[in-house]
Amino acid sequence: MPIAIAIDGPAASGKGTVARGVARRLGYRYLDTGAMYRAVALLAQQRGVDWTDSQALGRLARQLDLDFRWDGEYAKVLVDGHDISGAIRSQEIGWGASAVAVHPSVRSALVARQRVLADHGGVVVDGRDIGSVVLPQAELKIYLDATLDERARRRHDELRRRGIHQNLAQVRDEVAARDAQDSGRATGPLAVAPGAVRVDTTNHSIAEVIEIVAKLAKDRCP
Ligand code: C5P
Repeated sequence: MPIAIAIDGPAASGKGTVARGVARRLGYRYLDTGAMYRAVALLAQQRGVDWTDSQALGRLARQLDLDFRWDGEYAKVLVDGHDISGAIRSQEIGWGASAVAVHPSVRSALVARQRVLADHGGVVVDGRDIGSVVLPQAELKIYLDATLDERARRRHDELRRRGIHQNLAQVRDEVAARDAQDSGRATGPLAVAPGAVRVDTTNHSIAEVIEIVAKLAKDRCP
């Protein structure tokens, strides 16, 4: 029987790539919850709503016309029918997502949606609070980690591939600041969920980590 797999971890730990790889391998759906917080940050920016305005952001998160398309290979995020998959990937919107994610009004709206989307198993969900809050009953919980230097290097490479040239030290500071904000908030902080398997990816390739998680998933299938 297909199971639910929760993957949490800090920024640039490789969660998205690993989650997509595992979903592909097992023929599961993939749900990127970070994209939801990013979508709220982007829409707020476009509508002139401040990232500190808890009430307006909560309303926006509840009313968001959000759609995910996963074709078994690539994930797309649509808001009001428009593809925003590229627009939400900037460093600025990454920081904005972390800023809007501190508000309990935003979290409760998005967590409710995530539970509906992840219903019925056969799904890989990645984020910060998946194993602890969204799907505490998930059959497999993974906490992906890597050293700050390694994560900064990966984010730096990813930005460079997209034509964004930023100094490595600056990328490192931004990743560290986002981790501090995500771990320090009162609601749904980044944490190792009870029962989660910790996987340190610092010295592993993505392919190796996908292999490790897919094997753990197969062992947990009833
Ligand atoms: O994973 P990603 O970098 O796309 O997430 C962007 C931000 O969204 C994170 O820094 C975090 O603050 C927030 N987030 C969250 N809970 C999740 C997923 C993401 O708070 N489940």
